[in-house]
Amino acid sequence: MPFIALGLAPALSRAAADLGFTTPTPIQAEAIPAVLAGADLLATAQTGSGKTAAYALPLLQRLAAHGHAAGPRPVRALVLVPTRELAAQAGEVVRSLAQHLPARPKVAVAFGGVSINPQMMALRGGADVVVATPGRLLDLVQHNALRLNQVEVLVLDEADRLLDLGFADELARVLALLPAQRQNLFFSATFPAAVQSLAGGLLVQPRRIDLPAAPAATDAVVMQRAILVDSTRRAGLLRQLIQEHGWQRVLVFVATQHAAERLAAKLHRGDLYATSFHGGLSQGARQQALAEFKERRWDVVVTTDLAARGIDIESLPVVVNHDLPRSAVDHVHRIGRTGRAGEGGLAVSFVTPGTLAHWRLIEKRQGMSLTLEVMPGFEPTEATPTPSPGSGGIKGQRPSKKDRLRAAAALSEKPE
Ligand code: AMP
Repeated sequence: MPFIALGLAPALSRAAADLGFTTPTPIQAEAIPAVLAGADLLATAQTGSGKTAAYALPLLQRLAAHGHAAGPRPVRALVLVPTRELAAQAGEVVRSLAQHLPARPKVAVAFGGVSINPQMMALRGGADVVVATPGRLLDLVQHNALRLNQVEVLVLDEADRLLDLGFADELARVLALLPAQRQNLFFSATFPAAVQSLAGGLLVQPRRIDLPAAPAATDAVVMQRAILVDSTRRAGLLRQLIQEHGWQRVLVFVATQHAAERLAAKLHRGDLYATSFHGGLSQGARQQALAEFKERRWDVVVTTDLAARGIDIESLPVVVNHDLPRSAVDHVHRIGRTGRAGEGGLAVSFVTPGTLAHWRLIEKRQGMSLTLEVMPGFEPTEATPTPSPGSGGIKGQRPSKKDRLRAAAALSEKPE
């Protein structure tokens, strides 16, 4: 059954397809029509069930149906989550699913443990959807960065973990700020007494969904994004994305050892815990970098294709192609570093006007076609080179002469 059969708008089912979601998971099949009909929801759902899209898709459709008035955007949908990782992950999914909507809603993500200022800046002009941990949300309310009196839909994602992590008081304070008239969507993996009583106090004649734990996919699912950006602005964009989304343990791929050193140093200067890892380091230095990355001392490791295979690093939440891989085969190895079973992963590729043709070939070999995103403030200005005959081909795994030239060109690129 396709998503459209559940009553979803084509723009949303297309965005779902872009993420590789062609058939709804059981929880999506049950939740989407119920939420579209305006019902409250009480769902037993584990991570891996596809619960994020189960609430995000119908929520986005409901927001789009009513449109928003001119002026600052009031928060119309609030998603409360227990952890920074889940906030970042859910926010990413909501953004991706909204990407083809004609009036794209603004999605803001907020969590503690990082500076509040960028989050306040991101809320300037308001936001339609806010995904947040309760404590930081209250801080933002206190700073007058947002108001919650126009929330139409409230989502509690992983309600049991919210209570386990001691968020009961914050939750009560957030709930007191919401209008009484609203739709409530309640997701929890378990239903101990405290969770039941929270649900009892919140929900009005909820539709119950009790599905046994059923992972959406046995294999890890990797969400891919491609962003068009000038070659000279990639480091700036990378830094912004890492800070904005609170990404941790990011593996960044570049073309050469020299580029790995340079980019790591640059990110480090930009206040990120970044280091490099490549074949030019001594065995001892490599082992140390790897051990420190495993211990989570570094948030960002910039590497060459060395780290794409054969190295014992557990799967990571985010990999970034700062420089595109030489070949589709390398691309597969690189993105294979992300995608944890049941949790999914994110692979972001920076495509520059100069590498667009090469990217299209990688896509073609992969049988995929991603929407090229452009980030506000990073609109590309570099010219797209006119292709010369025979350029940009994808070869096998060994570097060809052209590959070496490309690597040399990457080296001599203007410093970013
Ligand atoms: P969630 O339970 O929302 O954390 O999702 C678990 C994983 O399933 C994520 O990696 C999603 O990208 C993936 N997923 C969600 N819905 C679908 C679907 N309909 N088809 C395939 N994968 C999905």
